Amino acid sequence: MRDYGMTDTEYDYIRWIFQGNVCPVCDELLVSGSIDIDHLHGTDIIRGLLHHKCNSSILGQNYEAKGLTNNPKFEEYVKRNVLER
Ligand SMILES: [Zn+2]
Repeated sequence: MRDYGMTDTEYDYIRWIFQGNVCPVCDELLVSGSIDIDHLHGTDIIRGLLHHKCNSSILGQNYEAKGLTNNPKFEEYVKRNVLER
């Protein structure tokens, strides 16, 4: 089991099939060991797998200050819920 009750199968599906091993925020390849599970705070809703640095830019709604709100791909990403339990 992974964080937030995610099974290894679910994790692998999201990483390799759903996201194609690409971080949805910056479009670069994910690297094992520095992947964060991004979930909606206070819920079990998982939005995706991100680089730690990309996840950090979202935490605290800090992304506006980093200019990411002009990224359409990112806007789409934050509205998406991948797994809802
Ligand atoms: Zn990234």
